[in-house]
Amino acid sequence: MGGYGSGGHNKTHRRLENFHRIDSFSFYDYLMGDKYLFCKETVKYPLVRGDIVYYVGEKTAEIREGDSYTDLILSRVPGIDGKSVRMYFHCPYCGRRVRYLYRRQERYMCRNCAKLNYASQQKSGMDEMRLKMERIVEKELGYTWWYKDYPNACISDLWHIPKPRYMRWEKYERLLKEFRQLQKDYERAFWMGMARCSMLSGKEKAGIMNHLNSL
Ligand SMILES: [Zn+2]
Repeated sequence: MGGYGSGGHNKTHRRLENFHRIDSFSFYDYLMGDKYLFCKETVKYPLVRGDIVYYVGEKTAEIREGDSYTDLILSRVPGIDGKSVRMYFHCPYCGRRVRYLYRRQERYMCRNCAKLNYASQQKSGMDEMRLKMERIVEKELGYTWWYKDYPNACISDLWHIPKPRYMRWEKYERLLKEFRQLQKDYERAFWMGMARCSMLSGKEKAGIMNHLNSL
């Protein structure tokens, strides 16, 4: 278990566990934060129940819970700088490449498969926020091909946005700041919607409320 408990990312990781969502970026950071990674055959990434088991040699993973396991397909996407790497999961149900998997009915699946989108996006202004995010990314920052770089990613999950060559850093940073704020607002609206979702147990709702308070 070398590495677990020693890195700063674990704080985030524990917080995310509370509401049963796993983040492929955190998972990747966790692997990269393990300095003995390449001396190991497997690495366990603890989940709220069970673990992700990562096979170092094969670079494959599975979700283990008791005796049951599910293959977890991973994608490594080079960053625009050509050096960094982003890791994504593929939804075990539909195969979509996604950053987040949600635990529903004892399984992990993408937001679409969890049918969370519909319940959470009603009456929350999320469509409008997405349009604002698109305006900043496409019109202001000129990054019109983002969905080709990150197929199947929602704009609210977009991480890397290149600076237009002609733009001053000051302006770029101001726009990024505005964009990150919208991402936060979007995340908040999403979890507010979740908290009203009738599929959830009281315990899960309490977890969401805790998360909302920490945003
Ligand atoms: Zn799916």
